[in-house]
Amino acid sequence: MPKSISMVTALKQYDIVADCSDNVPTRYLISDACAVAGKPLVSASALRWEGQLTIYNHQGGPCYRCLFPIPPPPETVTNCADGGVLGVVPGIMGCLQAQEVLKLASGIDPSYSSTMLMYDALDGRFRNIKLRGKRADCTTCGSGSESRILENYEAFCGSSASDRCRTLYLLSATERMTVQEYKQLLDDGVPHVLIDVRPQVEVDICHLPHSVHIPLSQLEAGNAADLLGERRGTSECGSQWKKLIVVCKLGNDSQKAVKILQRLSEEGFNEFTVKDIAGGLMAWAEKIDPAFPKY
Ligand SMILES: [Zn+2]
Repeated sequence: MPKSISMVTALKQYDIVADCSDNVPTRYLISDACAVAGKPLVSASALRWEGQLTIYNHQGGPCYRCLFPIPPPPETVTNCADGGVLGVVPGIMGCLQAQEVLKLASGIDPSYSSTMLMYDALDGRFRNIKLRGKRADCTTCGSGSESRILENYEAFCGSSASDRCRTLYLLSATERMTVQEYKQLLDDGVPHVLIDVRPQVEVDICHLPHSVHIPLSQLEAGNAADLLGERRGTSECGSQWKKLIVVCKLGNDSQKAVKILQRLSEEGFNEFTVKDIAGGLMAWAEKIDPAFPKY
């Protein structure tokens, strides 16, 4: 991901910008940079069976941030790597995007300024939605506000600027531990419970023998207190449950689980501390136990 300010400098030499990116932080960066550089932004996106197309920052129309002032919670964003996309949909949206760029370059009014084209490949249907105008209080392009470029768009969105192997940043460094720290904790014999939150099918492939399995899906279903109570009740050493450590494959789902468990602790359910293991079991395999299966 280019540095924010150098992005503005890069865009200044062009007349029209097309956003063909595949992740939320890059979309915010490009839109903000276009607003600062005063360039129209032809933006297209595709996911699963659906595509969207609009032109931001043109003829008094909104910028991306006018429509979405706050990024969606990273754990709710589905990208093409996770959700998939029907191969022809980006092709269709890309052709329409090129068509709008050509119109702008020819001095012809584009069709989707302040309008969003929605394409549903499953129904084979196109719809146009009229967008609100520029927001007066938009922090990027609103009147009276300084045009603004952020220092770090990944931190702003809580996710990495990549469609591959997404990394979430839901927890602070003090709420996490490295695999080396976890190994030390094991070697020191510190009482704790290791909760593996992966789906059953992955636990069947490999797991650390002392881990307790509580899938994230069950924690998210809203009965976390019951699940913990149940497991603690059948455990020989109840005191271990004062220190919970959560692990998953890569360290993303474990952060979501820690957030859920932190809420329980705040609600007064059996005071405990909870951290996750950054990088998850794949980091464990990489850095601690080369014999541990990678999948
Ligand atoms: Zn705006």
